[in-house]
Amino acid sequence: MGKNLSEFPIQYIKGVGPQRAKLLNNLGIKTAEDALYYLPYRYEDRNNINKISNLNYGQLETVTGKVIAADVIKLPRSNRKLFELTVSDGSGLLKGKWFNQPFMKKNFEVGQEIILSGIVKRNPYRGLGFEFDNPEYEFPTDDGDAFIHTSRIVPIYRTTVGLSVRQLRTIMFNLLDACVKEVSDTMPREIIERNNLPELKESILNSHFPEAGADMDNLNRGISLYQTRLSFDELFMFELGLSALKKGKDIERGIAFNTEGVFVKKLLDSLPFKLTGAQQRVFSEILHDMKKPHPMNRLIQGDVGCGKTVIAIMAMLTAVECGYQAALMAPTEILAEQHYINIHKIVEDMGLNICLLTGSVKKRPLDDIASGKINISIGTHALIQEGINFKNLGLAIIDEQHKFGVMQRAMLKKKGHPDALTPDVLVMTATPIPRTLSMTLYGDMNYSVIDELPPDRRPVSTRLFNEKQKSYIYNAIAGEIKKGRQVYIVYPVIEETGKSNLKSAIIGKEALEKMFPDYKISLIHGRMKSQEKETVMAAFKKGGIDILVSTTVIEVGVDVPNATMMLIVHAERFGLAQLHQLRGRVGRGAEQSYCFLLAYEPAGEEARQRFGIMVKSNDGFRIAEEDLIIRGPGEFFGTRQAGMPDLKIANIIRDARLIEDARKEAFGLIDNDPELKGFPELKKCVEGFWRGKIELFKTG
Ligand code: ADP
Ligand code: MG
Repeated sequence: MGKNLSEFPIQYIKGVGPQRAKLLNNLGIKTAEDALYYLPYRYEDRNNINKISNLNYGQLETVTGKVIAADVIKLPRSNRKLFELTVSDGSGLLKGKWFNQPFMKKNFEVGQEIILSGIVKRNPYRGLGFEFDNPEYEFPTDDGDAFIHTSRIVPIYRTTVGLSVRQLRTIMFNLLDACVKEVSDTMPREIIERNNLPELKESILNSHFPEAGADMDNLNRGISLYQTRLSFDELFMFELGLSALKKGKDIERGIAFNTEGVFVKKLLDSLPFKLTGAQQRVFSEILHDMKKPHPMNRLIQGDVGCGKTVIAIMAMLTAVECGYQAALMAPTEILAEQHYINIHKIVEDMGLNICLLTGSVKKRPLDDIASGKINISIGTHALIQEGINFKNLGLAIIDEQHKFGVMQRAMLKKKGHPDALTPDVLVMTATPIPRTLSMTLYGDMNYSVIDELPPDRRPVSTRLFNEKQKSYIYNAIAGEIKKGRQVYIVYPVIEETGKSNLKSAIIGKEALEKMFPDYKISLIHGRMKSQEKETVMAAFKKGGIDILVSTTVIEVGVDVPNATMMLIVHAERFGLAQLHQLRGRVGRGAEQSYCFLLAYEPAGEEARQRFGIMVKSNDGFRIAEEDLIIRGPGEFFGTRQAGMPDLKIANIIRDARLIEDARKEAFGLIDNDPELKGFPELKKCVEGFWRGKIELFKTG
């Protein structure tokens, strides 16, 4: 045929046509190539044909026999119909049942030879005998190769309404038959050999229709030799894109900041603490990048409370000292305001100009930003909106990266003057991402980790409570306030609604006021005006509020060291990462802090697992790994940045080792041949894989 599989419409594959092509499109299959890489999610071994009399209940079994009867039966007391097939192999009788599918009848004739596979069920009426619900079936023919659905290891695909697994399997069979020979392998030979990978065509074939005798367990986990080859290829494409991106940035011209460190020294002298070793190391890594004539592109990871903000300020002061502007972008208004409150006095004392830019700030100093009078801008994504233009943006810092994507990073960078050099970019995140995941998510960046907490920190004591133990909790809260400390109480919702039975922040606050008439209790939530939120946060920071009742608006970044107790109401409603982030609001000073998880029934098994981990561990990296295991990569990727291609075959947990191998190969290749001049076909594939999401291979 000689076709280009990535452009060959699926419609023209045998057995597809326009109608089914639409259904396949729903599955993300548009071309023959898409279909080749649309792999089964599990497999069944239908190789071993058993005698009906020997069938085992609950097992997946395959039998062969003759059709004795094929009847549509009207079910008593309902409008539903049942199609029932009776098959005999001489040793016994077996019934196949299809509910609500009377049209099935036309597919069968009495006397026909048939092969049936299914899970063996007990016949409910007679107590004896066997039946299959919705079995897979196949008519044996003379051309022995045509066994698609039985007598082999068969693939089970995810499908869509209107297209049965069986139909899809037939399409796949035809597709492989017609197309696999056209597949061209663009992976460099050396890499295939170094990694002991099997041939591509063979791998595709065997990942759909595995050869007899293949290890079912490996297949169903997606780690057969052949499946591994396909996972490797996908990861290789992914990492190749990342390495090309990174290479492009590394050779781009940027600002070489020549700093004396005057402002930084002033800042450090004014701090009541000394930097930790990890903070010093990470700042020196940043400084090293900033001094180079290429744009910095670095991710700083560090658990909640490790002290990332001061590092951000140091970096911004370095840029400002060299005559450039700096910007700090936070994911929420509260966090941006917090940063502003924390930073503005320090820098204003140094004679610098700073502004806050969020959606609800009315007076925007656009002219002063454009003229360069403003040295430091702090804000939300309002910073990257239309109309905001910097005179000479030298450094852009993004705090709590998980809410921003590659695209926003790129936009923030473009905020510099058109003729200006690309600004340095620093991304900070407390989302403790397992290493393999961060390698895929942020693989185009350099990476630093602050793996040390300030010396005076003690782990937050975390305990789980139920509703009946509330009085204990309230006593503990009162005790803490008597000691002069402050308390957060977090609710899952602002207001009660008819639908859910969730306790809310507003009602919670009223109840607390009755219980504790002498305490100052305030409320903060996302629906309040920015000005109101700011006032409340400022008062809480000053110690003028004893109990702050809130929603998850305080999830990230809020920093009030005197707050030492947090109660999370309806803890069962929060995910693990979120619980850890929330808990990170306490334990930010030298005092012992407490986090109480108040769970309501029914909490569910997963919630219980989460509580177990929270009580046991304060280590964000451990928590993230457990979270990844509980939730699976799909959801973890849900918060993933836009602009990254999906991984359809590989799995970042299962394939951690493979990611490292693929990454090493990809980065090695790009190092030797940044534009893949020697591999034009491979280059086309990578660009196809990234589908123009990002400009790869741009030269500096
Ligand atoms: P995060 O990394 O979560 O953003 P912050 O930068 O908000 O953490 O810092 C948490 C708290 O620790 C702040 O009150 C900050 O002033 C304080 N802090 C930062 N570095 C140190 C240090 N080296 N020693 C003591 N306290 C520190
Ligand atoms: Mg922070």
